[in-house]
Amino acid sequence: MGQCIYCGKPAGFLKKTHKECKQQHEQGKSEVISLVGKIGAEGGDLHRLENSIEHVASTSFIDKDTLNSLVASGWERAVNIAFDDGLLSEKEESALSELKEHFSLPQQILDRNGAYSKLVKGAVLRDIMDGNLPERIKIDGGLPFNLQKSEKVVWVFQNVNYYEEKTRTRYVGGSQGVSVRIAKGLYYRTGAFKGERVQTSETVHADTGLLGVTNKHIYFAGPSKRFRIAYNKIVTFEPFSDGIGVQRDAQTAKPQSFQTGDGWFTYNLITNLSQM
Ligand SMILES: [Zn+2]
Repeated sequence: MGQCIYCGKPAGFLKKTHKECKQQHEQGKSEVISLVGKIGAEGGDLHRLENSIEHVASTSFIDKDTLNSLVASGWERAVNIAFDDGLLSEKEESALSELKEHFSLPQQILDRNGAYSKLVKGAVLRDIMDGNLPERIKIDGGLPFNLQKSEKVVWVFQNVNYYEEKTRTRYVGGSQGVSVRIAKGLYYRTGAFKGERVQTSETVHADTGLLGVTNKHIYFAGPSKRFRIAYNKIVTFEPFSDGIGVQRDAQTAKPQSFQTGDGWFTYNLITNLSQM
């Protein structure tokens, strides 16, 4: 007779679980994630939350390690909920921070699927849309950009693929998709970035390097190409699922695009900084 891995009682010949125990366990796991997700997005009594999830854990055969991991999943769920209705609000950001503190959730775990980074990026975008220059990233070491006086680096993307277009026939429209007006900015929801990728048959990979974004320019620095473009020299921005395309205001200028891996953030960041 095998024993049930959940309740420890005999489970029957060649069996490791009772169907009911397994069901109870799975149900308990999703309940924990949803309880944590709700409080993480809306805020609420964290001591009560802790009691509730411990109660669920004890009746659903959930051990301490599993519970910790489920709380982290709940936090990730909360980040998704927070972004569902548009941009992360200040209230949502503090609810998420309080939840992180209360359960001592390690940043590394919260970022296993990129949720923590998304939170930081959301906060950066909100700052810009409120008309404030964000100071949320720490830069280690010098950057290869010759910044102007009063110019501030807002974000640096690493390992960015830079593409130049063979022809300049492709640029038709600027932005598309669902946008919402937030404070002083125009915010494009994540859903607006499901379309095209940066690289097409028309593009030539010119270099890979750092893409610096400041309040005045975008800078690129790679082994063979180094340049900056002032926002007031750009006539169109094109959103891609994995980056952004720009068209400079010059007769001979060909479209340029940067593959950062995150079109949602890159496009919202650059288009709103250019309007500041
Ligand atoms: Zn059992």
